[in-house]
Amino acid sequence: MTTLPHILVINCGSSSVKFALLPAASREPVVSGLAECLGLDDARITFKTADGKHTASLNGGKHAEAMAALTGFLAEHDWLGSVAAVGHRIVHGGERFQQSALITPEVIEGIEACCALAPLHNPGHLVGIRAAQQAFPALPQVVVFDTAFHQTLPKSAYLYAIPQRYHRDYGVRRYGMHGTSHRFIAAETIAALGLDPADNGILIAHLGNGASASAISHGRCVDTTMGMTPLEGLVMGTRSGDIDPAAVTYIARREGLDLDGIDTLLNKQSGLLGVSGISSDCRALEEAAEAGHPDARLALDMFAHRLARLLGGLATSLTRLDALVFTGGIGENSSLLREMTLARLSLLGFSVDAAANQLAVRGIGGVISGPGSVAALVMPTNEEWMIARDTAELAGL
Ligand code: AMP
Repeated sequence: MTTLPHILVINCGSSSVKFALLPAASREPVVSGLAECLGLDDARITFKTADGKHTASLNGGKHAEAMAALTGFLAEHDWLGSVAAVGHRIVHGGERFQQSALITPEVIEGIEACCALAPLHNPGHLVGIRAAQQAFPALPQVVVFDTAFHQTLPKSAYLYAIPQRYHRDYGVRRYGMHGTSHRFIAAETIAALGLDPADNGILIAHLGNGASASAISHGRCVDTTMGMTPLEGLVMGTRSGDIDPAAVTYIARREGLDLDGIDTLLNKQSGLLGVSGISSDCRALEEAAEAGHPDARLALDMFAHRLARLLGGLATSLTRLDALVFTGGIGENSSLLREMTLARLSLLGFSVDAAANQLAVRGIGGVISGPGSVAALVMPTNEEWMIARDTAELAGL
């Protein structure tokens, strides 16, 4: 049996559980996978190991059945006894959680209190925590918050310019998301470029289906593009990002949309999908644009324009600019969008090395800026490892 302690990382949604098992000191999981369609007839779980992929039916089961299938699989492969702690990804920690925490009854209460701010995510996380506590009653469990890294934003950056009582009474403010990824990239960039930890300035573009950018000054986050929810900021796969709120009320009146209708329009039918009319998927749009589809090209242009515009704005929170780092599915793979973005940022001192940019795909990172440019980098993110690292640390492993 494996004796090296392993950390089980869990990202639980309302109908899915994503998981990864990492040896305590390693960045690579030995098993990862996804349980999906939980509660439906075709509920299933897929395990990925060095030997390949294996999918099993969960027969309409939910989170408890997914957890039972996972522990069964770990037992079969002699990994179960080595699991020493469990780390959970939590989307929203509100103002209460500035960093990761060992789970206690008070911490659970705190996550429950944040459900109003993330009604689509936090309730699912709580279901996952309960299922994991039942499956591993003797193990320490840790929560790692997507919002925590952005808690260092100054008030001038996190408040909306509306009467302050909405912040005081309901917690309405900008929280930011993808914090675990931004924290990982910030620390890795400081190490990779040998920057002074007390004097640095970094812009990070985490570009996936959801996308956000942040400004890191001296290792701390000072501004970010997502807001109270993930809807604010950049153009995303199906989210509009920034839009004049008055345009939304105007559309609602013209089309008789209620609040749910507005929610669906801006979160699910907009962004790359809404503009192109074809797909939310960047790769599909690049192929369509190449084949001459004008609205696919327009959607990519808008993505790059908004990204460059917001990066320019974020830069004003820095005292110096050492690097811009691209990460996430699009940031790590789309040399086209990276080139289109850097071309718009020459005023900030960026140029691109076309050959290096082409090479940085499919998990290969590196510097993609041209000679004399401020450094532009591609860096694969590793949120699972950050969660495993925090978990190991808080569990005292
Ligand atoms: P994520 O949410 O981080 O998994 O990122 C998903 C996004 O990455 C989707 O829009 C994909 O189309 C995009 N993506 C993945 N691979 C590529 C690629 N080779 N070229 C362009 N976009 C890609």
